[in-house]
Amino acid sequence: MPEGCGVVGIYNHPQAARLTYLGLYALQHRGQESAGIVSSDGSNVFMHRGMGLVNEVFNEETLKTLPGHIAIGHNRYSTMGSSTLLNVQPLLINFSGEGIALSHNGNLINAKELRNELESKGSIFQTMMDTEVIIHLFTHSSRSIGKRRALLKALRKVKGAYSLLLLTNNELIGARDPQGFRPLVLGKLGESFLFASETCAFDLLGAKYIREVRPGEMVAINKKGIKSYLLPSSRVSQCIFEHIYFARPDSLVFGESVHKVREKLGRRLAQEHPCKADLVIPVPDSGVSAALGYASESKIPFAMGLTRNHYIGRTFIEPLQSFRDMEVKIKLNPIRDVLKGKRIVLIDDSIVRGTTSKKIIRLLREGGAREVHFRISSPPIKFPCFFGIDTPVQRELIASSYSVEEIRERIGANTLGYLSLEGLLSCVKNPDSYCTACFNGDYPLKVSPQTKYIFEAK
Ligand code: AMP
Repeated sequence: MPEGCGVVGIYNHPQAARLTYLGLYALQHRGQESAGIVSSDGSNVFMHRGMGLVNEVFNEETLKTLPGHIAIGHNRYSTMGSSTLLNVQPLLINFSGEGIALSHNGNLINAKELRNELESKGSIFQTMMDTEVIIHLFTHSSRSIGKRRALLKALRKVKGAYSLLLLTNNELIGARDPQGFRPLVLGKLGESFLFASETCAFDLLGAKYIREVRPGEMVAINKKGIKSYLLPSSRVSQCIFEHIYFARPDSLVFGESVHKVREKLGRRLAQEHPCKADLVIPVPDSGVSAALGYASESKIPFAMGLTRNHYIGRTFIEPLQSFRDMEVKIKLNPIRDVLKGKRIVLIDDSIVRGTTSKKIIRLLREGGAREVHFRISSPPIKFPCFFGIDTPVQRELIASSYSVEEIRERIGANTLGYLSLEGLLSCVKNPDSYCTACFNGDYPLKVSPQTKYIFEAK
């Protein structure tokens, strides 16, 4: 099952695969487990995929094996045990003598039921990915009714989150589920059209942002031009966690600057949970934008009290028993001269299990901080996500079992304050268009007990 991944696609560029590679590079934060590109020259399709970061998977040699003017790419989020090369995207199949590839960001919640149904009719699945269900549904009718109508028909059957790209020999299609859970944007570079999960990919390529692919919209591009189709509409439920944590701050997501939203969250947090302190310190990088907002609202100076090592990659370092908190120390180091004797307001975007937060607070105290007041720019996460963010099963979410005061005690903070849900929603333009299920359990689509069980077992 793909989780919060990154997708990029380009139509009509002589260096399509190279641009897709650069786009994936800009979207590396959305997935670090594996990367892949499929390209087409109008008659044949070409593929290269592998485990690891984008620059580990691709080099000059491999990019040369991806000719053509159309390409799609995918970064997969590092999460679960099922991370084998077999499950790397894009998914490529050969059907009726034509290569068809799919990149999918999101999670389907009726994949198992559909898979059972398809297998009972003789479909043979090659992977464990729910994405493959879409391909099977698509091929069932693409010969009789045409590719665009076949994809629309397939998408009407699947439920859940998808921002996906489909490549055929001569066409590129982008589609977003009717709830619009995950982002997908449309751009232009000269005579080329592009899709990407976030606009930061366009910035790197020098492409112009045109607009979002709308929730429930399918946009098809071929040499005749660009055409839009609509799926039956539904309650729009964009993932608010994209703004809180997942997207890059320099992106426009759901039509708003992620950095600006995070700054507002920080300001509102300062109003809801003021604090007597000497410095506002972010957990880098996820807490930086909100910490700037908190500092400007509270008039407490912003300072960098933790340095992050950005070059960890996939290095595996066996933690020595004697080195307490090795995992977090590899990532973060306190700056003693900043922290010594100071009362700190520590800002982060979220607490999930509470384990990292506890270690960071201990690190700050060891680094000389006198008091650590922890402020979180989102409400307590109490419910798991079935739509593409890899939050653990409910029992592992610290806020599902403990009160704020109990969490404070467990993680060792002097005080703890979470942003309210009302406060969170006041910081985005269209509050009614968001999914907030991870905070209040109000799932926009009904999730069957069977699907919940599959998620718990993953
Ligand atoms: P913990 O204290 O162990 O719950 O970790 C909290 C940290 O995890 C925060 O710095 C968050 O930015 C980060 N975080 C939040 N959601 C996720 C996610 N889905 N995957 C990885 N890290 C996350």
